[in-house]
Amino acid sequence: MEASKISCLQVDEQLDSVQFSLTNVVERYVIDEPPEDAQAVLKRQHGIDNLLGHFRQHLQERSAHHLGHPLSQKLDVGPLAQFQHFHINNIGDPFVESNYGIHSRQFEYAVLDWFAHLWEIPKDQYWGYVTNGGSEGNYDGLLVGRELYPEGIIYASQDSHYSIFKAAKMYRVQCIKIDTSFSGEMRYDHFRTKLLENARRPAIVNVNIGTTVKGAIDDLDEIISTLENCGFRDRFYIHCDGALAGLMLPFIKQAPKVTFIKPIGSISVSGHKLLGCPTPCGVVINRLKDIDVLKSTNIEYIASNDVTISGSRNGQSPIFLWYKLKSMGYEGIRREIEACLRNACYLTVRLRNVTISGSRNGQSPIFLWYKLKSMGYEGIQREIEACLRNACYLTVRLRNVGINAFMNSKSIIVIFEKPKDEMFMQKWQLACAGNVAHVVVMPHVSFEMLGIFVEELAEKRYALLQNKEFSVPCVAMDIGQENCLCKLHENIRSSL
Ligand SMILES: *Cc1c(COP(=O)(O)O)cnc(C)c1O
Repeated sequence: MEASKISCLQVDEQLDSVQFSLTNVVERYVIDEPPEDAQAVLKRQHGIDNLLGHFRQHLQERSAHHLGHPLSQKLDVGPLAQFQHFHINNIGDPFVESNYGIHSRQFEYAVLDWFAHLWEIPKDQYWGYVTNGGSEGNYDGLLVGRELYPEGIIYASQDSHYSIFKAAKMYRVQCIKIDTSFSGEMRYDHFRTKLLENARRPAIVNVNIGTTVKGAIDDLDEIISTLENCGFRDRFYIHCDGALAGLMLPFIKQAPKVTFIKPIGSISVSGHKLLGCPTPCGVVINRLKDIDVLKSTNIEYIASNDVTISGSRNGQSPIFLWYKLKSMGYEGIRREIEACLRNACYLTVRLRNVTISGSRNGQSPIFLWYKLKSMGYEGIQREIEACLRNACYLTVRLRNVGINAFMNSKSIIVIFEKPKDEMFMQKWQLACAGNVAHVVVMPHVSFEMLGIFVEELAEKRYALLQNKEFSVPCVAMDIGQENCLCKLHENIRSSL
């Protein structure tokens, strides 16, 4: 498979000789009338071929320098090129027979089944389709919400994707923006206030499963319990915008669960982000019963049998999605997501490393000189990188086993709840202050060491948790209320 890969990451060698200013590209694209003269036609055709060749190089160059958007460029599309010449159109509702024969619904059903399984909704209870992208999935979800609750208000955090606000405008539904914390996550206290101010009207809530800019994940459970506590039971509709992370969460251990077992109405993802389909596409899954209600009562909805937003639909996308899922499998995707998370952590560390250099002072000049001379710039950089990476790794591991841990950016000190076991403290020679202990992730501290450390600590703690007398100690003074898992702060947080 590797060998046949069409590499969009390889830049043609002669690229440097070609100028790619935007205006240049625009100028070359002018559509003029074909000439009469045969010689001129030939020359013009040559010009078009040239232009297309340059455009290909332009795309290669742009693809090779792509970091800013959540698009995966890992896709082997070789075997799928054979379908490009067909007018594949999955027009309309995928589950309604069509007399247009050039479609790829066989693939679409399989893709939808796969996502239904991922988000835990039985085959006979879901409806959905392959969209033109995450935005269209949002348009679908919010439209279903509005049709079920025509008097409803859309609630969405201010960090939501613009398609949410666009939908509110298109559908002429009042939309209330909810504040977010610095991380980009919805502020549930503000959400609660706004709900109570509008207690008479049903709530249509957009839940971000990964915001576009910060990747913040709104807490679905918190949102559901807030709705119920504010008297909205059976008067709310939840749409989950999972454009990027909706597909990642199910693969990450300890991640909050987004599932139809909870009272949500719809989830949408993009197919061209994590899965890397070359054409914009996505998947939306709804509850079949909602769609049935809309079709039978036919409120406003689409005023036809076609319940999709788009009508004519790209029939290539389901084939790409199918191929990607089929060839990678659940395991393959899980591995890819793990690699992404690891690399994101690595990048954070690298970035932090850029700003750390000023903090190295106060050492004797002779020592400094010796150290610098013997290690060199590169050597030191490597050492710091490794430390930060390991500290980051330790923090994540601790949190994964339910131990509250905290680290400041640009720091290699990981602070966590003081272990109860004296032997353990001694074995690892942990320093502690009050209710917390810390590990300073110095250059000698390896991944392996940290792994063993966390395993042992998790084991001890698991034993403790079996004991009813044990309660999680309060560490709010040490690492902040928001990082504290003790009963008091849990309660305070959940009652907000
Ligand atoms: C990218 C994104 C969208 C839009 O998805 P498209 O596939 O580009 O239409 C919607 N919501 C979020 C959170 C996104 O990141």
